[in-house]
Amino acid sequence: MNFCPSLFKPTTAVDGILTRIRVPLGIISLEQIEAIAQISEQFSNSSIQITNRANIQIRTSEPFPNSVLKDLQKLGLAAHNPDLDHLRNIMISPTAGIDPQALLDTRPLAIAWLKYIDNHPELAILSPKFSIGIDGGEGVSIGNRPNDIILKAVKYRKEIYFSLHIVNTPTDLLINPDQALNVLSVLTEIYRNFTIQKSFQNSDQIRSPRLRELIKEWGMEVYLKTLEDILDPHPQPLCHWKKGKEISNTSTLGEFQHLGVYSQVQSEYSYMGVVIPLGRLSSSQFRSIGNISKSLRLTPFQNAIAPNIPNQEIESVKTQISELGLSISDNYPFAAMVACSGITGCKSSATDTQSDARAIAEHLQTSIILDRPINIHLTGCEKSCAQHHPSDITLLGVDTDMYKVFVSDRCEEVKFGKELQNQYPASELPNLVKELIQTYQTQRETPDQTFKEFMRNYD
Ligand code: SF4
Repeated sequence: MNFCPSLFKPTTAVDGILTRIRVPLGIISLEQIEAIAQISEQFSNSSIQITNRANIQIRTSEPFPNSVLKDLQKLGLAAHNPDLDHLRNIMISPTAGIDPQALLDTRPLAIAWLKYIDNHPELAILSPKFSIGIDGGEGVSIGNRPNDIILKAVKYRKEIYFSLHIVNTPTDLLINPDQALNVLSVLTEIYRNFTIQKSFQNSDQIRSPRLRELIKEWGMEVYLKTLEDILDPHPQPLCHWKKGKEISNTSTLGEFQHLGVYSQVQSEYSYMGVVIPLGRLSSSQFRSIGNISKSLRLTPFQNAIAPNIPNQEIESVKTQISELGLSISDNYPFAAMVACSGITGCKSSATDTQSDARAIAEHLQTSIILDRPINIHLTGCEKSCAQHHPSDITLLGVDTDMYKVFVSDRCEEVKFGKELQNQYPASELPNLVKELIQTYQTQRETPDQTFKEFMRNYD
C-alpha cells in the first residue's frame, strides 16, 4: 500500500486531498511554476507547500482531473508511467552546478537516474520511500539529509569519487563517478529481488519493505558483497578507502546559510536564498518570485533559491523579494522554523502547529533580534514528519493546545533532546521560546557558540 501522497495516488488529509508533485532535482522552470500556480488557483484554496524533499504539495477538494495530470507529464513534473511516479525521490544540493566549491556537478547523474527509473517499470514494486541523495560537495550540502542511498563526492588520492552511504551509514566503498549509475542500478536491483522474496514469503504484506529492512535482515556486509560480486570488475567501479588514508570532504555551510546572496561558480551571476515561511507560499507569491528569477530551486530546508541573478541586478531583486513580503535573512525567525501540517491537516496531530509556529515567529520578530538562525521544530505527534533530525528547540504537541518542550541534549541518541516542560500551553510558547533564545544570547561563552553547544552544556 502506498502511504506517501503522489500525483497519481493522492491521499486524503483532514483539510482535503493531498497531492505531491515530485519536482525533478528540485529545479523548477518558469513554465512549470506558472502551471502549478494555475492549478493551485483553480483547484485549491490553500497555499503551495514546499516539502522537506524539495517537492511541492497542494491540497484540493477533488483529485486532479486527467487533463491536469497529462499537462504535468508534458511539463516533466510527472512520470510517463504513473506506476513509477512515487519512485522519483532523488535529492541533490539546491546549488548543484552553481556552487563554487562543488567537486562535481551532480545534475547529469540525477537526470540519468530519473531516466533509468522511467525505463524500468519492474521497479514499481519498490517502497515509495526508496530515495537517493547525490551530494557534489557543495557548501549547501544534502549529505546529512535522510536518504536510503547517498553518494557523497570526496577527494581521495587527488581523484574525485563518490563515497557510498547506505541508510545514512557510511560504507568504506568509493565509486568512480563514471560508474555511479551502474552502481545505483545494481544496488536497486538487489533491493528489488529482496522485495520480491518478501512478497512471496508473506503474501498478506500490504507494504513493500524498506531498504533498511534488507540491511537489518542481511547485514550491510552481505548487501555490499552482493554488489561487488555482480559488478563487472573491468573497469573497476569501486575501491575501498583505508582508514587513516587521506579522504577529504569539502566544508559545508550551516544548514540555513544558503539564505542571502552568494556568488556562483559562473562569476557574473549570484544566487539568492529566500525564506519561505513554513515552506508555504500563495500562488501569487510563487508566480511572482518565479517571474523575478525565471526559475527556482526548491530546497529540502523548505526554502527557495533564486539562481543566476546577474550581479548588477542583485539590489533590485532584493527589493522585489521584499515587496513580496519575503526575507532573505537567515536571522529572520521563520528562516529556521519548521512545522508539520498540524491539526488542520492531519488527524494524528494534537495541536495546531502551523498557527502556533506563526505566533512564535511573529513574537520573536517584534521582541528579539536573532544573531544566528535558531532551528525551531513544531510537530503534532512523535512521528515528526517535518524534520527527522534533532533541532535546537522541539515543541511536541501532546494534548489540545499543549506541548512538550525540548532543547538540544548532549546525547544525540535522544530523539527530541532534553525535556524542559511536559505540558506547556501553546499560548505561552512565544514567550518561553524568546526567553530560551535570550538566555542563550546573553550567557553563551563565545559569540560563535551555537545554541546546540550552549544547551548541551547548560544545566
Ligand atoms: S508529525 Fe504527526 S501530526 Fe504532524 S503531520 Fe506527521 S503524522 Fe501528522
